[in-house]
Amino acid sequence: MIVLGIETSCDETSMALYDANKQKVLASIISSQVDLHRNFGGVVPEIASRNHLIKLEDIYYQILKEANLTPKQIDLVGVTNAPGLIGSLFVGVAFAKGLAYGLKKPLIGVNHLAAHTLSTEIEHPNLKPPYLSLIISGGHTHIYYVDSAYNFTLLSHTIDDAVGECFDKVAKKLGLPYPGGPEIEKIAQDGDEKAIEFPIALKNSKNFSFSGIKTAVLNCIEENKYKVEDLAASFQYTIFRNLIHKLNLVIKELNIKNVVVTGGVSANGYLREKLTDYYKKSGITIYFPSKRLSTDNGDMIAYTAYKFYTKRVFMGLRETAYDVKPDID
Ligand code: ATP
Ligand code: MG
Ligand code: FE
Repeated sequence: MIVLGIETSCDETSMALYDANKQKVLASIISSQVDLHRNFGGVVPEIASRNHLIKLEDIYYQILKEANLTPKQIDLVGVTNAPGLIGSLFVGVAFAKGLAYGLKKPLIGVNHLAAHTLSTEIEHPNLKPPYLSLIISGGHTHIYYVDSAYNFTLLSHTIDDAVGECFDKVAKKLGLPYPGGPEIEKIAQDGDEKAIEFPIALKNSKNFSFSGIKTAVLNCIEENKYKVEDLAASFQYTIFRNLIHKLNLVIKELNIKNVVVTGGVSANGYLREKLTDYYKKSGITIYFPSKRLSTDNGDMIAYTAYKFYTKRVFMGLRETAYDVKPDID
């Protein structure tokens, strides 16, 4: 069974073809719009939707060529349906509907956060639920208990900023280009992570809050008292401490051995190393997708669509973006 996955929820236009029988991604294209948004210091929704519209058709034909397949060989179409920028989602959903209707193939609307989580399974075929999912992305900071590919329980979420948003805002204040995460990671390498002590908010709650640390770092930048490298390193270290603090509160209540960490911020090499090392001794294994699959991609949409297909939950042509099952957000 060949599944086409379409992702347009934010500023990546991406498609992948997944062969469910061979359990293999046959071809994948990720076209990033980062250069278009950089001058604005963040994603401009109108520019994002228009660019998805321009790119989708070319990417569709290019991916079929790369996989050496014809349109008729596609058995299932999966598309990100929520959450995301509404205009961007609409472009992807409209394209997917037209395609599924024209090809007379089933269509599945995929929750983007479920897809981030399940992306880990593509490269770790032995990893099976139940496990914990920590999503650290541009728009979300969530911990889910994943009972099956279709059954997510939200255990913890941020009450204000997402961790990726926090990286981006700190970077912007430092005059670094968008997206800020990789820039902070780079300069933090030359800094002292213990130079400045930032607090962890909501210590007794499983929920996250990042607005306090964001403001604390922004104030430090204003004061101009510290080396930029030390600021970046101390900020990253606090994010790491924050993540393990909340994860530990959740783990204490559950007998769980596997944790998957996904979303754009999980591409951060420092956080990967620190989290892996920290949990090594406790018998808990941390799984990450490859860095390519940490940020938005069609691979995770195709894979998740296939998982949902086994549950026989399809998307009707009358349904629209945000009519998504399961609604795990
Ligand atoms: P969501 O998945 O919540 O809808 P999104 O799709 O915009 O949001 P992703 O594309 O998964 O988010 O991730 C983008 C975020 O990841 C940005 O905030 C970016 O700064 C951050 N990011 C990317 N690489 C790194 C890195 N190396 N270190 C820290 N953050 C990073
Ligand atoms: Mg993005
Ligand atoms: Fe994402």
